[in-house]
Amino acid sequence: MLIIRSNMSLCPVVQPAYTTTNVVFDPYRTSHPLTVENFSNMQDGAYWFERLLRLEQSWNSRLTTPRSILATDTAPQTDIHFDILYAGGGLGMIHAAVLQCVHGKNVCVVDRYTAGLTHRDWNISMPELERLMQVGLFSRDEVMSFVQREYKGGFIRFHTPDTQAEPYWLENILDVAVSANGLLALARKKFLDAGGTVYDNAELRRVWNSPKNATAHIHYQNTDLHIGATVMVDCMGAYSPLAAAMNPQRPFTHCCPTVGTISRGFKEGTGEREVNPDIGEILVTLSGADENGRQLIWEGFPGAGDEFITYLFYYDRIDSPFNKSLIDLYEVFFATLHTYKEASPAFDIGRPAFGMIPSYLHRAPWNTRTVALDAIVSLGDAAALSSPLTYCGFGSFVRNLERTTTLLADGVTNGLTSQQYLTRINAYEPQVAISANFAQYLVAKPGESPDEVNATMNTITNVLRKLPPSVGEELFRDTLSFGAYNLLMSSVPVFYPKAYSLLLRNGLSSALWWVLNFLGFAIHDIGRRLFTPLAQRLSTSTIQRIAFRAKARVFMYRDRRIEKRKAGIL
Ligand SMILES: Cc1cc2nc3c(=O)[nH]c(=O)nc-3n(C[C@H](O)[C@H](O)[C@H](O)COP(=O)(O)OP(=O)(O)OC[C@H]3O[C@@H](n4cnc5c(N)ncnc54)[C@H](O)[C@@H]3O)c2cc1C
Repeated sequence: MLIIRSNMSLCPVVQPAYTTTNVVFDPYRTSHPLTVENFSNMQDGAYWFERLLRLEQSWNSRLTTPRSILATDTAPQTDIHFDILYAGGGLGMIHAAVLQCVHGKNVCVVDRYTAGLTHRDWNISMPELERLMQVGLFSRDEVMSFVQREYKGGFIRFHTPDTQAEPYWLENILDVAVSANGLLALARKKFLDAGGTVYDNAELRRVWNSPKNATAHIHYQNTDLHIGATVMVDCMGAYSPLAAAMNPQRPFTHCCPTVGTISRGFKEGTGEREVNPDIGEILVTLSGADENGRQLIWEGFPGAGDEFITYLFYYDRIDSPFNKSLIDLYEVFFATLHTYKEASPAFDIGRPAFGMIPSYLHRAPWNTRTVALDAIVSLGDAAALSSPLTYCGFGSFVRNLERTTTLLADGVTNGLTSQQYLTRINAYEPQVAISANFAQYLVAKPGESPDEVNATMNTITNVLRKLPPSVGEELFRDTLSFGAYNLLMSSVPVFYPKAYSLLLRNGLSSALWWVLNFLGFAIHDIGRRLFTPLAQRLSTSTIQRIAFRAKARVFMYRDRRIEKRKAGIL
């Protein structure tokens, strides 16, 4: 049983399942002095630094080791069996809690660190967060216990070389700060109370799968454990070796290397370098691209009390030549944090928040990513289906939580566990695919003018300023409607006749994919309108379940015919 303690914001969190000594810093004292100094001053700094190093190693080996994780020989005897096994206890902890507590499944979570303890903090909007109540996991009071702060609004502001950069204001977007570890600790407690099983410090090493079940080799406390499950859910994040094995060419197309801290004691006020506790700073640039060609972006969100969460990140293509090392980025972060926000004498570095956020730029509706195999399905960052514009993987996960949990429970109950059925259980949203095209404008390209990203984004925000505020809000909340999209695209030539040339910034093929994504979006919208009368009577999950079962019947009928043909009956 793990001790639960309070973090800076007095929200109960799970404690690391083991400690690390400061020896972990030694090889980096000369090369990364600021990072070592600041991590040394944090609570559990050595532990978080070790997790950072592990991510770095996973990144470097991501394309060389993944295939070996999928075994092709005969599966070994299992030591224990569950309905569902989650590998990865970040977002996986929430999903597992819903399956155990709400759907009554027999569920196990394994994590190579501590299930329910992550190096993130999350912003979201209240209607999105309410999905956690609608799915039946938390009461309103429980949700409010991990909400740190609600803001009056937020802004994005891109640097202009000659004039004062103008903020573009947004409301109802990322305006609720959530303690990620407070949320996960509560999910873990509910899960355990409902009879769920957790293995911490347990690493998934190999998987055997068939249409009916999966067997996982887990390395746990220096022993080998073989866990069987009707379905295994891959929640191992961006570096998931299973996701890499499923998508050997490119597990994801874009990424957002992100580092930051949850600190306290910045100067409060309304100046640019001061913290306004009522306002979220969603995207802020202070200059053009850096000497390496990367357009670095700041983000800042007030948290509980005088906490302020600060991130430094950049949008990138997975195959770009840019340095994607998170430790190197931390060195830049600590060297330049004061240019973004001014510290007061009470400044105190709290804990780090970091990660490589993945995304997959879809090219038309049929070009989706492989997110399932027989008896295995990927969710969260392992599936990389959240938007490359906002990189809000938590938001995407929560928006789709009711659907993905209902379908998974249904699949396990009815034996619908082969790849065809499990592929349906994902967080793909057509509006994300189309709005993702805008994300290309945030990706700096080697060799172009250092002001390119800022200038382009200022053009787009100038168009947005002239449109109803809901258009910008939908775009940056990943809920872009067909009407808002068309209004935005048709307004561009009216206000900036030359702006359509932006479509060609990423080449002809990119413009073509944009058109195809638009067609997919249009088809989705027509389908949605046709089914609106039915949808008004049935909940989304009921419709999805009907569609899921109908498809399942078709597959079953087809499989039976194939079997009969093989047996010579047909
Ligand atoms: C700094 C930062 C800030 C963010 N802010 C926001 C935000 O404000 N709003 C928002 O919506 N999104 C935000 N995101 C994105 C969001 O945090 C991610 O999409 C989400 O946390 C992904 O969760 P995950 O569980 O899929 O992956 P991860 O958080 O990466 O978790 C993967 C888990 O799998 C475990 N694991 C890995 N390999 C193995 C193995 N072999 N065996 C067992 N366990 C394994 C790891 O230990 C880890 O616990 C942010 C991301 C970052 C990096």
